[in-house]
Amino acid sequence: MTVVRTRFSPSPTGSLHLGGTRTALFNWLFARHHQGVFILRIEDTDRERSEERYVREIKESMLWLGLDWDEGPYFQSARLPLYREYIQRLLDQGEAYYCDCDPADLETRRQEALARGDKPKYDGRCRELGLKPGPNTAVRFKTPLTGTTNWHDRGKGPIAFDNRELDDLVIQRADGIPTYNFAVVVDDITMGVTHVIRGEDHIPNTPRQILIYQALGAALPEFAHMTVTLAPGGGKLSKRRGAIPILDYRERGYLPQALVNYMVRLGWAHGDQEIFSREELIKYFSLEHMSKSPGVYDEEKLLWLNAHYIKETPLPELAGLLQPFLERLGIAAKDLNYLARVAGTLNTRSKTLVEMADQARFYFQDPRPYEEKGARKFLTPESAVHLEEIKKRLEALAEFSEAALNQLFQDLTTETGLKMVQLAQPVRLALTGKTVSPGLFDIIIILGKEEVLKRLNLALDFIYKKQ
Ligand code: GLU
Repeated sequence: MTVVRTRFSPSPTGSLHLGGTRTALFNWLFARHHQGVFILRIEDTDRERSEERYVREIKESMLWLGLDWDEGPYFQSARLPLYREYIQRLLDQGEAYYCDCDPADLETRRQEALARGDKPKYDGRCRELGLKPGPNTAVRFKTPLTGTTNWHDRGKGPIAFDNRELDDLVIQRADGIPTYNFAVVVDDITMGVTHVIRGEDHIPNTPRQILIYQALGAALPEFAHMTVTLAPGGGKLSKRRGAIPILDYRERGYLPQALVNYMVRLGWAHGDQEIFSREELIKYFSLEHMSKSPGVYDEEKLLWLNAHYIKETPLPELAGLLQPFLERLGIAAKDLNYLARVAGTLNTRSKTLVEMADQARFYFQDPRPYEEKGARKFLTPESAVHLEEIKKRLEALAEFSEAALNQLFQDLTTETGLKMVQLAQPVRLALTGKTVSPGLFDIIIILGKEEVLKRLNLALDFIYKKQ
């Protein structure tokens, strides 16, 4: 059996977004499913638009998501002699020819065709001229003038193109640089790529590439084109609607597992299962179950998955993830044990790490100013009496445990006839500044006696000063 070899071949002309990353993910999953090889190839023949920082960002994005590659990164810019060799082969075989048409003329002819309502196509003017190489000569591929080019797409089913629709495309520009459609074929042949999995926007390129494979006498890989992802309500993803750099999701407090799980479901299904471990994805992934219709970006679903993975993350690990988000708020939470306990009170209450860090503030910072409405309602002279009593009893308590605290508050409800919430809310406000927080006893235990008493005093001061 031949080993499955897939590749992800981004152009380093911008950040990696959801669409491109999903292509990487599908190629990675398919390779892992078949214990094959996943190749990273950087398509940087566009020297002007390619930037080193994007190469770094692409690699960082992939590694963050756990999409490790087995070979590469290969750089097309380092393979120019190879492309020339293959160009020469096609020229020698009479499958390609030199063309010295002036770019300005070509543009005029293109405009004229458009004005006539024709599809703009190269008219084949240089096809039979037998031109020699010169300073301003490009190389064009001799596309067959008749017949059809078809393939069975593993994502889309059978696809056919009439060769007359395809013109003689430039395969090497006048500056000696090969074009995308040519370089990609030479790369996929020489790298032994067995499966080309990519976005459906590349379907029109595929017949051109197939014809080049055939001219070079090479076996075709399998092609699988994936559906696009649309913005909610239709249309393309935009900056405001999902088209942000992948690493921005990290900044926004998303976990890589959530994003991977989310992306896979945008173009693939396994029954109606929504949540997949990485092992399950590798086990179940198949091209046959790629979606036939476009996925729609849904931030709520991503948040839901993120909340799920936050909940699933072991607390010591979660503490490590949370730390930099607290740092951004100016909180140096160095004690990871403490932070793990803090995270344990918030992991079912936060959809992102950003949210979690914000909710964790009170553990590290003065809870004041108190939430205004809550303070008006709960930090009153009447509650001061109870706060004083709670303070006294907490002070006397030898050990802060769930059971001891429960007992303390139970006793007070019996003695005062007040409901638990009436006693708890003033304390909650004193300790957290808010009316909604994690479980009060957890907070009391984590903050510890000294801090709790200090905060109760502050709240009492606040009440007395208001008088
Ligand atoms: N560099 C191309 C892109 O970023 C790769 C297309 C392909 O996979 O063949 O779209």
